[in-house]
Amino acid sequence: AKNEGRNNVRYYSSEMTTRALERVVMETSLRAGLKNGEFIVYFQPQVNGKENRLFGMEALVRWNSPTVGLVSPAVFIPIAESTGLIVELDRYVMKHAMTQIAQWYKEGLNPGILSMNLTMKQLQQKDFIEYLKTLLAETGCSIEWVELEVTEDQIMIHPDEAIDILREISRIGVKIAVDDFGTGYSSLSYLKKLPINKLKIDQSFVRELPDDEEDVAITKAIIAMAQSLNLDVIAEGVETAEQKDFLVQNGCINIQGYFYSKPKPADEIRTILIEGL
Ligand code: C2E
Ligand code: CA
Ligand code: CA
Ligand code: CA
Repeated sequence: AKNEGRNNVRYYSSEMTTRALERVVMETSLRAGLKNGEFIVYFQPQVNGKENRLFGMEALVRWNSPTVGLVSPAVFIPIAESTGLIVELDRYVMKHAMTQIAQWYKEGLNPGILSMNLTMKQLQQKDFIEYLKTLLAETGCSIEWVELEVTEDQIMIHPDEAIDILREISRIGVKIAVDDFGTGYSSLSYLKKLPINKLKIDQSFVRELPDDEEDVAITKAIIAMAQSLNLDVIAEGVETAEQKDFLVQNGCINIQGYFYSKPKPADEIRTILIEGL
């Protein structure tokens, strides 16, 4: 038993070291990647499911690492968050996404609203609003074209602080969507106080629609909540016609997911903007 204990300790500590090492390596290559422009912005269409009409798109970052290849944001965003690099990374994404959207508008195309994922850490930066205004001016992107997505989790870490910050941001005319809605713990009283425009139904509730009774109940409740608070609602992770039909029939006409389109690089999105979905 004594030996086993010792082995366990050795096992865990070497695993911890490996993880710590991986983290340091990852942080170093993320930093280099930012410097070398290895990040690419993909866009995923957001569609009015009643009319099959594109009304916007979400910017989703990809990392094309020269050593590892294409890396999923699920892998590097958490590390970027814990190291603070996320602030710089998301500014990079904002700049590239806004430049692209403005370019499409200049070409006479209609990409609609650009939705960008930001962390509370970004919104807490003292110069965030100034940075956003500078970007709007530099890229020629109009403020009405921009929406920010913040997760319910992040908002609910310090809800009162979040309310203050989001109020300041929405005052300049930027729309705010609550991402991954239903997975956090926001209360109705906070939702009422938040200066938000949209709830984004988390894909975990969409996956088993319309068969899973719980998911049906939760989805309907979120749609009802959005309606009573006068908020827009969009569902993400919609993969099938059945899911789309259920959502549209129950009052959620804004749809995002593989059913319409996967996230795609700018040149492929441009084709969609010209030829349709
Ligand atoms: P998210 O913001 O909830 O984004 C939705 C994720 O679901 C995306 O994964 C998207 O590709 C995926 N998805 C979209 N439609 C479907 C579908 O029909 N089925 C399935 N199974 N998945 C679908 P992705 O691009 O891998 O991003 C993962 C997460 O990484 C995002 O979740 C977001 O939290 C984060 N992320 C991505 N880009 C950025 C960014 O630029 N900044 C920040 N801060 N976070 C980002
Ligand atoms: Ca999102
Ligand atoms: Ca989400
Ligand atoms: Ca379930």
